[in-house]
Amino acid sequence: MSTPKPITRRSFLNQTALSGLSLAAISAFPAASLARVLQPSDAPVPPIGVLGWQTLQPGILAIADQSMGGNTMLVVAKDKALLIDTKFPHLGGAILRDAADQIGADTTSNDSIELTLINTHHHGDHTGGNAIIVPIASASYAHANALPRIKAQHERYVQGAKGGPSQIARERDDDKLMPFAKAAAEASASWTDITAVPKIAISGSGNTLRLGDVVVKTLHFGTGHTDNDLVIHLPEQNIVHTGDLVFNGLFPFFDPDANATARGWIESLKQTRKLCNAETKVIPGHGPIAGPEIIDAQIAFFEQLVARVQEQIEAGKTREEIAEMSWDFMNGLGFEQIKGRLLNGVYDELKG
Ligand SMILES: [Zn+2]
Repeated sequence: MSTPKPITRRSFLNQTALSGLSLAAISAFPAASLARVLQPSDAPVPPIGVLGWQTLQPGILAIADQSMGGNTMLVVAKDKALLIDTKFPHLGGAILRDAADQIGADTTSNDSIELTLINTHHHGDHTGGNAIIVPIASASYAHANALPRIKAQHERYVQGAKGGPSQIARERDDDKLMPFAKAAAEASASWTDITAVPKIAISGSGNTLRLGDVVVKTLHFGTGHTDNDLVIHLPEQNIVHTGDLVFNGLFPFFDPDANATARGWIESLKQTRKLCNAETKVIPGHGPIAGPEIIDAQIAFFEQLVARVQEQIEAGKTREEIAEMSWDFMNGLGFEQIKGRLLNGVYDELKG
């Protein structure tokens, strides 16, 4: 695991605007470490599209760039595409452009294209582009508990889209991305509170979709990071997208308003781990793509966290005192500014 280095404070401020946080800094992994994971050979495949997708295997693309929000995956099966998560509002148009180009689809008419969207959960850095993509997608899914939460985030999406062009101007100076951000800012005036809401609710613990020949399983192992987590499993490709059940190399974002629970999170991770063998490619919600060891690391993190906080509660320490504590297993993790929030959340859970 690489040592994070501080970058892109402003991009995280945009993310925090969506997730309701107020934080000051961010860490992310050097691009080189990601390239090493994805391209073990000496002949790296160049990034694809407006947003620079990495190729995991033929027809499977992903973006794990922390400055762009939650990690996305794009599965291409001939003339059909499956998209997992949509990052921030100002990136939705570029994601759609890249997905449409992969399947040769025309997005200039009002007709839907053969694009299926699944959100791993409702958080704004994973659903921000929904308002642009849901209306044109042939199918769109999220867990049933996610739908009212996405609806309630309408104003955040609008504000995120309106601020997109100035954010890109500050951060990236990206001529390719800017037209999409401007279009999103303009379009946001017409968004209603249901524009971003996926059309189909997923319930139950497991469902199977088919994208051409590709089998796609959506799994819900109960409440963990949120009450609407979906793990996406491509069994034949041996790929798992964990959503935010895994923060690779980062402190996990703990959201009591979404009913987050550390003990449920551990259980969901253990179930997710059962989908994997040593060769499985694991796309975390945030941080670099790697193997199942990052699920093991997240389980170990939460198990130690729960044990340490419980010890401190039994030792009579207050909520405020515990929020200031650190232990060795936290060393080197990015997003340190959300540690206090995490410790408060686990304290409240254990105190019941
Ligand atoms: Zn999340």
